[in-house]
Amino acid sequence: MKLVLATSNKGKVREIQSLFEDKEVVPYGEIIQEFEIVEDGLTFKENALIKARAVFKALDDEDVVVIADDSGISVDILDGAPGIYSARYGGVDAGDKDNLYALIDAIKQKGVKSSKAHYTAAIAIVTKTSEYSVHGWMYGDAQAYASGNGGFGYDPMFIPLGYDKTLGDLDDETKKKLSHRSKALKLTKAILQTL
Ligand code: IMP
Repeated sequence: MKLVLATSNKGKVREIQSLFEDKEVVPYGEIIQEFEIVEDGLTFKENALIKARAVFKALDDEDVVVIADDSGISVDILDGAPGIYSARYGGVDAGDKDNLYALIDAIKQKGVKSSKAHYTAAIAIVTKTSEYSVHGWMYGDAQAYASGNGGFGYDPMFIPLGYDKTLGDLDDETKKKLSHRSKALKLTKAILQTL
């Protein structure tokens, strides 16, 4: 079974590959030219399905199984923002660092040092005959500062529930045990076994 990832996000690719150590998992950009996918869904699940379907169609290979992850962080004091807009929170062309500091600023502007928050990952699996979607969540606190270089994206400002360090300061193995993506990928593995 050839698993293709509908993402070019290096952080996601690294984490997904490390959770599927026994399988060949290839980002679609290594097979075909990457293209823009308009993520105009209103939920993580809709956007994950949009990405997986678009890549499955473009690959034009009935034997592949395409996996897409749509994920983001939701901060309670910001009424759940940035949520599905996490990748673009710092502006249209924002990179990970721009997004991170835009979110830190937004929390500071509320006059607090931290807020309850959670990450969501929706994973869509598309094959020639079927479509599935699963979710995983990780709860904790979003801080109004960044610390550490581990993980990616908003990890330097996120302290998981039960810990006193950010994901930027914790090691990859700890994040692997706790993360929204790991939880969704465990369910993904169970689905792949039925195919
Ligand atoms: P997507 O690629 O459209 O799903 O956007 C995901 C956004 O959420 C990106 O800005 C990521 O940096 C952020 N994000 C998703 N998962 C994580 C994570 O595990 N750690 C940190 N940031 C994440």
